[in-house]
Amino acid sequence: MNITSGKVVHIHYTLTDDAGELLDTSAGQEPLAYLHGAGNIIPGLENALEGKTVGDTLSVVVPPEEGYGLYNAELVETVLLSQFPDPSQVEVGARFGVQAGDMMYIATVTDIVGDRVTFDMNHPLAGVTLHFDVAVVGVEDATPEELAHGHVHTPGAH
Ligand SMILES: [Zn+2]
Repeated sequence: MNITSGKVVHIHYTLTDDAGELLDTSAGQEPLAYLHGAGNIIPGLENALEGKTVGDTLSVVVPPEEGYGLYNAELVETVLLSQFPDPSQVEVGARFGVQAGDMMYIATVTDIVGDRVTFDMNHPLAGVTLHFDVAVVGVEDATPEELAHGHVHTPGAH
């Protein structure tokens, strides 16, 4: 069975950056399962998997535009520490959710100078060229419910 829209696909993957540094891997865990054609994974990887089948392995280089987006300097803001609900929790590297319009961002605190806190709402992998090594380990038809929901139902999830 080939990977097309509406299939549930199981992959093992290793993700590295341009320098070869390991960013993420499914090694030692269950394979990642996703619904193909539903935008569950980044476009560059989803497109590369189209038509593949169980046993196929592929190396995919995904530019930021097809990954987590270009780095956007406008998504960096500086605010007063007192604007945080719990200033004691604010430290460099801390992450928190920010609602902006109908978008939800994960912000990372990047700098604290005096009472001013700078945070970055870019995805941590924005601007990064992604190198995926992928092995396709399963392809199956999605259930009607999964197709209706637009995502895979793992055992125990609703
Ligand atoms: Zn669902």
